[in-house]
Amino acid sequence: MKVLLHTCCGPCASACVPRLKAAGRGVVMFYSNSNIDTREEFERRLAAAKKLAAAEGVEIIVDEYDHGRWLAEVASGFEDEPEKGRRCERCFRFNLARAAAARERLGADAFATSLTVSPHKPSPVVFAASDDPHFLKEDFKKKDGFKISVRRAAELGLYRQDYCGCEFSKRKRGENAGT
Ligand code: SF4
Repeated sequence: MKVLLHTCCGPCASACVPRLKAAGRGVVMFYSNSNIDTREEFERRLAAAKKLAAAEGVEIIVDEYDHGRWLAEVASGFEDEPEKGRRCERCFRFNLARAAAARERLGADAFATSLTVSPHKPSPVVFAASDDPHFLKEDFKKKDGFKISVRRAAELGLYRQDYCGCEFSKRKRGENAGT
């Protein structure tokens, strides 16, 4: 079974790729993050994701970066929402829809997301953000997923951001370390 892994960042994906491989699944990483506030930060996180892909010997596909579209379709009217609020639910929906479309285009059997690794992202909320039948609802938080991601990212020297991604999450910078 080939799984397209929506990859929010290298550190989170570092817990997911080995777990999927250990379950006998082929993995292709899909870096899709128009939620990130600047191109510079998008590229910094992409470099870490590519480093992980190389270490794991898996392919990585990079989605186009269009933060303007994300602002218009996701954040507009929801700028003041707290993290874990409605803006985040909309953000999950946006990114998972991109992953669902990519899965279909690429002919993968399923897609999953590294978003479920973060303790700041409740897995049931992430799972509710897509009703695509090909969505593999793997809860990577389980079995110490976050701890494993911290350890593996340190081993590989991966850049770890200290805010979730959008400019609105920067207001809480420091509280969101490791997201
Ligand atoms: S805080 Fe994170 S999950 Fe929430 S809208 Fe911003 S980038 Fe998306």
